[in-house]
Amino acid sequence: MIVDYHTHTSLCKHGEGDVEEYIRKALALGLDEIGCSEHMPMPDGFDLRHRMSLEEYYASYAPRISVLAEQYRGRIAVRRGLEAEFLPGADAWIEKFIEENDFDYVIGSVHFLGKWGEVKPLFHAEYSEQEIERLHIEYFEAICASAMCRRYDIIGHCDLIKKFGIRSTPKIEESCREALKAIRSEDIAIEINTSGLRKAEQDTYPGKKILQWASDLNIPLTIGSDAHKPEQVGLFFDRAVALVEEFGRGRISLFERRQRTEVRISRLEAA
Ligand SMILES: [Zn+2]
Ligand SMILES: [Zn+2]
Repeated sequence: MIVDYHTHTSLCKHGEGDVEEYIRKALALGLDEIGCSEHMPMPDGFDLRHRMSLEEYYASYAPRISVLAEQYRGRIAVRRGLEAEFLPGADAWIEKFIEENDFDYVIGSVHFLGKWGEVKPLFHAEYSEQEIERLHIEYFEAICASAMCRRYDIIGHCDLIKKFGIRSTPKIEESCREALKAIRSEDIAIEINTSGLRKAEQDTYPGKKILQWASDLNIPLTIGSDAHKPEQVGLFFDRAVALVEEFGRGRISLFERRQRTEVRISRLEAA
């Protein structure tokens, strides 16, 4: 069994292609499930350059995935996912949106530090050397809080902060391990996100060190490409499968209607 649980489409404004092109690519690769996890709508036109609007969610994303899931039934399972934000100060809005809609799974991702109204973005931003070290701790503290709010099924790219360069101090490691403990105690999965292999980091999110700590805690794993183009579906999954074998006892979590099951992972034959 092999799946790709992290994909975006043109609806996120910085991706390309229609959701059906992603499904077709997944089918061609021999994936058993494809999860669509578009960036969630946010209130007040927040960060609209990188996400669908509420109107687009209701008019396009939600109905289209339902239609396609039906259309492809028996050939590939199409899951309705969401990449949700974790952003203190917008919690009530985020929570309500998730509760009011039917998802197979919700990925919780930290793309902004700080709080609603005074966010520090992790994309298209530059920070000084001193700030970066502090941001690492803030980032893992946010990951910890995102696990403890019990709103998400999967924690997305849990060491994304390394995009600014890996920093490792005892304090940073401690905050990371605290976050993993919270993920374990809330029984949440983390993803092995292969998109870092397409970027300067040349590494998965998270990398091996964190995966080892996660493995020591028996944290469940999922895998996702974070594809922003149809051809990126399943990209570098040979690496992801090897990591699941090494750090996840060869098992991945599947989600349907927010219920988790675990299955043995298989290789992607067409990769
Ligand atoms: Zn993300
Ligand atoms: Zn994403």
